[in-house]
Amino acid sequence: MTHASLKYDDTIAAIATAYGAAGIGIIRISGPDAALIADQVFFSKKGHKLKGQETYRVSYGLIKDEKGQAIDDALALNMWAPHSFTGEDVVELQCHGGAVVLKKVLDLVLAAGARLAEPGEFSKRAFLNGRLDLSQAEAIMDLVNAKTETALTAAANTLQGLLAREIRQCRQELLEVIAYLEADIDFPEEDFERLHQGEILTRLEKTRERIQQLLQTFSSGRIVREGLKTVLIGKPNVGKSSLLNTILKTQRAIVTDVPGTTRDTIEEYYNLGGIPLVLIDTAGIRQTEDVVEKIGVEKTKDVIKGADLLLYLLDSTTGLTGEDREYLKELPKEKTMILANKVDLLAGGENAEKYEEDLARQLRGYRLLFISATEQIGIEELEKAIKDQFFVHGWENKDQAFLTNIRHKRALDQALKALESGRQGVLEGTPSDLVSVDLQNCLEYLGEITGETLDEEIIDQIFARFCLGK
Ligand code: GDP
Repeated sequence: MTHASLKYDDTIAAIATAYGAAGIGIIRISGPDAALIADQVFFSKKGHKLKGQETYRVSYGLIKDEKGQAIDDALALNMWAPHSFTGEDVVELQCHGGAVVLKKVLDLVLAAGARLAEPGEFSKRAFLNGRLDLSQAEAIMDLVNAKTETALTAAANTLQGLLAREIRQCRQELLEVIAYLEADIDFPEEDFERLHQGEILTRLEKTRERIQQLLQTFSSGRIVREGLKTVLIGKPNVGKSSLLNTILKTQRAIVTDVPGTTRDTIEEYYNLGGIPLVLIDTAGIRQTEDVVEKIGVEKTKDVIKGADLLLYLLDSTTGLTGEDREYLKELPKEKTMILANKVDLLAGGENAEKYEEDLARQLRGYRLLFISATEQIGIEELEKAIKDQFFVHGWENKDQAFLTNIRHKRALDQALKALESGRQGVLEGTPSDLVSVDLQNCLEYLGEITGETLDEEIIDQIFARFCLGK
């Protein structure tokens, strides 16, 4: 899809790389005058101009200021329309990565006639020029912000257009049904092959299933994107810190250094077999030893309310104490998983078995796992239990379209509602024109996800959330 009427006639520029000292930093220039503008600040060693170069050429040269003073040496990469990220003429100047250098080069580019890009404006142009659909453009933002490898995969899938493809297929299916209905409305007398009610229902069912399947991925999708909000609770010395350490050790990929984010927030992300866990207020738990004491406190209540998962640790050697029972009363059962820690200290054999059975009986209705934080017993089972509870089947499938974005989820919810209403209409023998209205509504909502049917104001809002230079 292209919005030809929205084509821009100005040329924008911004620093496309992160601030701070780095090997290289890139100034991106996009628009009809990209070459002319770049030619005023970049001077190739071989003496050629960028304008007129073949596309995808790299030139080496100097950046010079108005007085002809060399500022930096740089590479200029030119990509001409329509085969560039934005679909416009683009020049990227790869300079040295210092903040001052980049700012200076950007100033020169702006003085040469470019306008400073708004946040997300490059991606917005890519969208408006039909280079990306909206779900893909949004995936770029997710890709850049991904906190875990799983989140990265989900964003990459959307960027590859997996979600858009699903949506397009749904829309196609609906369009065909609508076409039949409309023909029926417009030419009721004509003799042509009509879809009978059963066929229409089957097709709507198929689309409904597709939409429902996508919607089901959202709970996992959200977790993949934002992490599973987890709180570790337990009396002092039950092994909370030890469990944290063990999870840290078994992490398959630790996100250690993401530019632009502080270490504090990164440390909250743990990777348990690919599941991003966000441990809420971890530091607080470590310091005070005890969230439990504060369980009555409003703030703790809020934390518990907002959490996806509560891991309640108890000490296997002391079993379930009265105190444990008191605390457990305060925790919603459906989100609580009980970890009986230090099983390594239970003498093996029959007694241990009986003991475990007893505990299970006392904690009926809870998910109960026996673990040892220090001996790393039961950690894989914990991983599995969490995956079983929170992730739909196939969430690790790399080819799966994933719903991770709340905007997409809302649009799909609405689409489903409209579709349901249309399907109900068919069942009840409602006139075709009314059914058709419902299905067209559904079509609209689906189109909002990919951006086919979204008004400009909302599109602007979406891109405004991007960072500068994207
Ligand atoms: P916290 O106060 O809940 O954070 O508890 P800690 O993680 O500091 O553990 C308290 C003590 O229990 C430490 O001496 C740990 O080494 C020990 N501990 C924790 N988990 C286990 C376990 O699974 N087995 C054994 N034998 N000791 C454990």
